Formats: sequence, C-alpha cells, structure tokens
Amino acid sequence: MTTGVITTSGGGGYEVLLEDGCSVHAVLRGRVKRQSRVGAQVVIGDRVEVEEVESGTGRDWVVVNILPRTSTITRRGHSEHRPKLIAANVDRMFAVVAARDPEPRLAQLDRLLVIAEANEVAATVVINKVDLPETKDVAERIEALYSGIGYPVIRGSAESGNGLEVLRSALAEGISALIGASGVGKSSLLNALAPELELRTGELSRRVRRGRHTTVRSRLLRLPFGGLVADTPGFGDVGVWGVPPEEVEFCFPEIRGLREGCRFRGCTHLAEPGCAVLEGIEAGEVARSRWQSYVELRRPQ
Ligand code: GDP
Ligand code: ZN
Repeated sequence: MTTGVITTSGGGGYEVLLEDGCSVHAVLRGRVKRQSRVGAQVVIGDRVEVEEVESGTGRDWVVVNILPRTSTITRRGHSEHRPKLIAANVDRMFAVVAARDPEPRLAQLDRLLVIAEANEVAATVVINKVDLPETKDVAERIEALYSGIGYPVIRGSAESGNGLEVLRSALAEGISALIGASGVGKSSLLNALAPELELRTGELSRRVRRGRHTTVRSRLLRLPFGGLVADTPGFGDVGVWGVPPEEVEFCFPEIRGLREGCRFRGCTHLAEPGCAVLEGIEAGEVARSRWQSYVELRRPQ
C-alpha cells in the first residue's frame, strides 16, 4: 500500500502521483467505487491509498481509500441544482487580473476572491501584464485596495518575468489554482515559470482546444520547482460560480469584520440604519467598489 495524489480524472481511470514521484494509472475498486457511484466522487487533488494487484492482463493499480480532505472546491452554478466538486486539498488560489488588456474589472476580481473565500481557501491577488505601458497607476491602486483588506498582492509580468519570484515560491508547495477571466495570462504565467509545461496561450488556440470533439480534462500539473497546479477548464469561468446570498457577507473579510457592530441582528448591510458596514464606507474603511460587489453578489441569482 502506498499513498499518492490524483492528478488526472475522467475517462474511466485516474493518474496518481505516488510519493516516490512516479505517476501510475489506477482504477477504483470495491468500497471506493461504490461510494463514487453514490456521488462521493474522486477528484483531482484527492490523496488516496493505492495498491498494486494482479489482474488478468498483468498488474494494475487500484485506489483503495480516499484520505480525509483539507479543502474542497465546489462550483455552484446559478441554474444547476447540484454543486459540482471539482478539486480537493487545494491549498491556495491566485485570483489573476491583468493591469490592462483586458481592462481590470474590480467586480470580477471580487468575484474571484469570493470563490476562494466561499471554499475557505487562502487567496492571493495577482496583477499581471505590468510590462504594458500606462499600467503603473492602476496596478498601484489595485494593490493598495486589496492589500488593505489583507490579501497578499503580487504585481508581475509573464512577458518580462518581472515580479514572478514570489509567485514561484508560493507555488512551490502543495496544490494551487490560478483563477481568472480568459486572457488575463494564467497560462502565460505558468509557462513563464515552467516553460516545459508548454500550455497553450491566447484566445485562438483555446477555441481550438475547446472544440466540440476534444474533451478538456481536469488535471494537476507538476511544477519542476515543486508543487502542483490545477489546469482545470472549470476554474477560469468566473461567470458560472454561485454563492448563496446569505453567505456572501462572510466572503468579504472587511464586511465580516464589521458585521458584529451593526445595530440589527441579521443586518443585510444594504440600507439599514446603524449599519457598521455602511458607516465603514463613509469612514473610508470599506471601499465602495467592494460594497457594490457585495450588493451585486447578494442579489438572488
Ligand atoms: P489565460 O486565458 O488567462 O490563460 O491567458 P493567456 O496566458 O492565454 O494570455 C492571453 C494573452 O495575453 C496572450 O496573448 C498572452 O501572450 C498575453 N499575455 C499574457 N501575459 C502577459 C504579460 O504579462 N504581458 C503581456 N504584454 N502580455 C501577456
Ligand atoms: Zn450592517
């Protein structure tokens, strides 16, 4: 018996990265298989126990046990009823925006951070493409806003490689995921740090990759300097993630920190008198853009 991490799932089997650094193909058996039929799916990031067994065709690896998870990433669609489990044991998420091309949208960055918070995964803001002209001010503004809330912020460029040392060392342990809109440079950042990954970049190639006849599978990529990073189509698409309205206040650290001070229990921080959050906006403790994102996300989807 040995332990490993699920790095690829789908297509009837799993890739498991074993402790000794070898990757093997494994199937589910027995109890694990029965559990997976009733919905306790095995996903990328899962730590599992595997066993090598004799079979008719030779030797096979079999997943015999799923070890307890430290975190799960579930996606709740607005229309889908059942939450979809997409990864386990993710240690941190990087919410990536571009300083320009595409223009940074704070509402979207807030959404990314809410996804991390809702899944109780630590988040870092990455501002990419700072090599482009006239990005200094906007990058500084975004950094000031989010580091003020308590999020670590990395400013860098996949193009020039500037500022990526911190990203590299943060990725070097455990399991990470980069989330963000298409075109902000997630694949380019990973390629800049690990050229051997040869991830496809740019809109055009991606459209080809997502063509009707190719299934894009979720996988964890091994970084040459240590660490695993998710390459999962479902991570990027911010639009499809949902958080129940009543949970939204807990996904904004600065609102979470003030809510105890509201006059009314169950204050929604939308318009109530004596609301500590609304007062916080007036006092400059809560950014108006953040509150607007909060209001937007609270709206029944
Ligand atoms: P993804 O969709 O988030 O994975 O974004 P890609 O990595 O595919 O990058 C989208 C486009 O932005 C590509 O044309 C990249 O060449 C470009 N790009 C990515 N990072 C940078 C950067 O730091 N600076 C500049 N100037 N362009 C970048
Ligand atoms: Zn309030």
